[in-house]
Amino acid sequence: MSELNNQNEEVISNERFDTYPASKRKDRLFVIDRMRCKGCSICVSVCPYDALFMSKKKSTNGFIYPIENGACKACKKCLYACPDFALSIHKVEEVNK
Ligand code: SF4
Ligand code: SF4
Repeated sequence: MSELNNQNEEVISNERFDTYPASKRKDRLFVIDRMRCKGCSICVSVCPYDALFMSKKKSTNGFIYPIENGACKACKKCLYACPDFALSIHKVEEVNK
């Protein structure tokens, strides 16, 4: 499933992952694994760019999860802070291989 976020960027979702464009050059993808996320919101609090907010609806695991708002700069701070390894950043060309 694909939809546009409030920055008119394409967000691609399936039953497990939400994939957002990340960084100024749009050469990175920011991926949220909803199956791993436990809804602690640590990622939201550590992001220096206020790029994340928590969902209103729950994942199939019963937890709220982060949504990226288009401001992600791919700094990776939230990746290192997430206790459940639910966040990752990938180069676009790696994902498209
Ligand atoms: S990678 Fe950096 S800018 Fe992007 S959401 Fe995580 S903390 Fe925020
Ligand atoms: S820090 Fe990890 S587990 Fe906590 S809300 Fe963010 S993605 Fe989910």
